Amino acid sequence: MVSVVYGPVPSWRLGRSLGIDPTMLPKACTFDCVYCQLGRTVRRISSPKELDPVVEVDELIKELKSKIEKIGLDPIDFITFSGTGEPTLNPNLGEMISAIKTMVPSKPVAVLTNSSLLHLIEVRGALSKADLVCLKLDAADQLTFEAINRPVSNVPGIEEIIESIREFKKSYKGVLALQIMLIDSTKPSFRVNFRGEALDYLIDSIASIQPDQIQLNTPTRPVTEKHIKPVDPAILSVVEERIIEVAPRSEIMRVDKREISIKLMRKEKRSMDELRDEVLALLKRRPCRIIDISTALGVEPADIETILESMIRSGLLKDVKSKRGVYYVYIG
Ligand code: SF4
Repeated sequence: MVSVVYGPVPSWRLGRSLGIDPTMLPKACTFDCVYCQLGRTVRRISSPKELDPVVEVDELIKELKSKIEKIGLDPIDFITFSGTGEPTLNPNLGEMISAIKTMVPSKPVAVLTNSSLLHLIEVRGALSKADLVCLKLDAADQLTFEAINRPVSNVPGIEEIIESIREFKKSYKGVLALQIMLIDSTKPSFRVNFRGEALDYLIDSIASIQPDQIQLNTPTRPVTEKHIKPVDPAILSVVEERIIEVAPRSEIMRVDKREISIKLMRKEKRSMDELRDEVLALLKRRPCRIIDISTALGVEPADIETILESMIRSGLLKDVKSKRGVYYVYIG
């Protein structure tokens, strides 16, 4: 049984992030992004009413309690709803956030969402309880949105999504961040978002939203579609300049300027089986390098390597070479 609570994992945006996965595998999402690190969307749904099974509040709180008893609060900067799909698909999200804030009032709660369900008042109500909401916005015109995010049927168009972001911003008291994934492609005909008309639309929408924070990202891990590649740092700089012109008060965070070197210093003793479960829980949420797992779990790289090799032999993982090193990808 895979746990709902995983990590903490080092995050370039959130420091040491204790993950909550409110949808669980197989991936349930309203999008099927070309750059998703979890492969194609298996449960293609567009409403919280369609999520089945649903992770319950009690289940989450029980796991969270036991995790905190084990590791304490020191190695946690954020408690983050993310995981293996779109967190706002869980109809219990609001109740879950309230329960966490009662149980662990000293730790901020973040939600990473793809923004597609913000038109629903109950989703806006749930998100309003979080301290930080990171809203995905990779494109602001329908053609680029469909090319990159590949929304499932019945998801609103991008104009309506942007309108609901503006609506949410009016009453939200926490930090509103936009997360933008800039992508390039080896296919000349693919509609990329870092130049031309697609970028102009994106910049206009940022101007109209005026977020507190903008997280500029580009794929650094293995992605779903092989033709997708990261943009150069020079492109990130150009886009950053354009954003500063229209949203001078927004804080801009760039993935290429935040090298993760966080040592979590987790000292609790674990058996080999427990360690295997933790490694697997991480890899089910995202491909990682040995150094990422070692840093996240506070375990020597050589021990992680031994575990990964045995998982490859038993067909649970494959290794994928990329510019940043070898990533281990769950295929189980
Ligand atoms: S990147 Fe996020 S929003 Fe896109 S398909 Fe993957 S889980 Fe869904």
